[in-house]
Amino acid sequence: MPGGHAQTLRPFMWRAERLYPDTEIVSRTHEGRTRHTYAEYADRTARLANALDAHGIERDDRVATFCWNHTRHFETYFGVPNTGAQLHTINPLLPDEHIRYIVDDADDEIVFVDPSLAEKIAGAAEGAAEFEGVDFVAMGSSEIDALDAPAYEEFIADRSTEYDWPDLDGDQPAGLCYTSGTTGKPKGVEYTQSMLWSHTMASQTPQGIPMEDSDVVMPVVPMFHVNAWGMPFTATAAGAKHVYPGPSPDPADLAALIEEEGVTVSAGVPTVWLGLREYVEGGNEVDLSTLDTVIIGGAAAPRALIEWYDERDVEVLHAWGMTELSPIGTVSHLKHDLRETDYETQVKKRSKQGLVAPGLEFEVIDEDGEEVPWNGDDFGELRIRGPWVTKEYFKRPEANEAEFVDGWLKTGDVVTVDEDGYIQLVDRTKDVIKSGGEWISSVELENAIIAYDGVSEAAVVGVSHERWQERPVAFVVVTDGVDREELVERIETGLREEYPEWWVPDAVEFIDEVPKTATGKFSKKDLREQHGDQSLVEGAVPEADAPEEE
Ligand code: AMP
Repeated sequence: MPGGHAQTLRPFMWRAERLYPDTEIVSRTHEGRTRHTYAEYADRTARLANALDAHGIERDDRVATFCWNHTRHFETYFGVPNTGAQLHTINPLLPDEHIRYIVDDADDEIVFVDPSLAEKIAGAAEGAAEFEGVDFVAMGSSEIDALDAPAYEEFIADRSTEYDWPDLDGDQPAGLCYTSGTTGKPKGVEYTQSMLWSHTMASQTPQGIPMEDSDVVMPVVPMFHVNAWGMPFTATAAGAKHVYPGPSPDPADLAALIEEEGVTVSAGVPTVWLGLREYVEGGNEVDLSTLDTVIIGGAAAPRALIEWYDERDVEVLHAWGMTELSPIGTVSHLKHDLRETDYETQVKKRSKQGLVAPGLEFEVIDEDGEEVPWNGDDFGELRIRGPWVTKEYFKRPEANEAEFVDGWLKTGDVVTVDEDGYIQLVDRTKDVIKSGGEWISSVELENAIIAYDGVSEAAVVGVSHERWQERPVAFVVVTDGVDREELVERIETGLREEYPEWWVPDAVEFIDEVPKTATGKFSKKDLREQHGDQSLVEGAVPEADAPEEE
């Protein structure tokens, strides 16, 4: 519905600029802490839009970012989609091969790159046909010679602070994010204007992750991950103050921002909040008194973590989501009648992934194709649909066939639903490992390991880990006469060259045979039961203590 009546992002920025011109957007950057008001933000965003036009970017073109969380990145959040172009946030933690693939698949015209990530993208782009014709802009005040990238400040300098933002249709593609959540090549998920609008509006309901104009919102979850769970949009819709933690923030950086900027709402994967807990427990005094709510998602929030923050009067909201869901699916709010129950009952509920967000529908289907009863015991695969759930993958018809059924997205997550409607993750049908909130493809590692001389079978499984939630362990069957020590060294060195350091398995173990299912596939479940000796990995959680969810 064109003519300014459609569900688009434009009104959120328009309103924040008009109602809250003096509210701040603060950012830790490689050049120090920066401060802008919404009024300045709107001017800079218009300058960016004009600069993109001058560069030749047109409606439907894709503009990519390769950045941490900071104000300049936030400027692309409205500055790109509001022109009718599409913002493609690239995850810089991916292996080079994936980065080349997605830049090519998305057909990116231009990539905005952080200086601290320049070497990474230069490595991926070197000699790569996928990067031909792609221009770079350096996210800062200085250019990056190696990428022939002008400085962002130069790029937007001398541009007008007025921009005639077009009327867009709700179906206009606004964002793009790739997920490596299942095996094979990363899959693109396209966010339309109306998906982002409806996700923002649902987030703003009391059963979402609501924010007020008095809030100070710090998304620690990376802006390359499903729009930092939509928080930059939600915070703008609220007229809240934004705080961006910049490149690779450590617990001390987060603590300083919370204290000095008075952060009230923050969000990130469990590893972030475990890190802050460790920092405090290690003797560092941190004033958490302004912090009201911490949203933990992307991986299961351990119960002990929820309790630790409770003791400090910080409410943990456990949330579940997916790239395909823009991303929020469930939030573990307490239903009103449960607020009268004892703490034990409450914390058990809050440790579950939660109640479906208003606006979505779901069903849970068991192996016989039947819908499971809501009894907290019976489990099946979660299927979900709604206005901010993608209906298809970008350019991937074969993935559409596998992952959607009758309009429902098959999530690959196995769940129970209790009498109160709380969803709890108990397993995954997808063969992947999620470590510190980032995917590691076990199948890709297996294919890499099997290629080594002397290896006849290889299987990689995730072991529950206190800090990273999961870490990979490789189980290898060798041919006769192989020098095992030398093989492990070869594998580890080789994987380090091909993959990011954190993909390399924490242990390589030798077994006689990989257990198989009746159809001859690797049985990861049996493998874990037979050989998943937790002592293999430092920091692993013994099976008995592992969170039930995972
Ligand atoms: P992504 O698309 O990378 O955001 O990953 C989505 C997947 O992460 C989900 O399908 C789950 O397997 C997992 N996940 C997300 N949130 C949670 C959570 N709160 N608890 C357990 N797993 C989660």
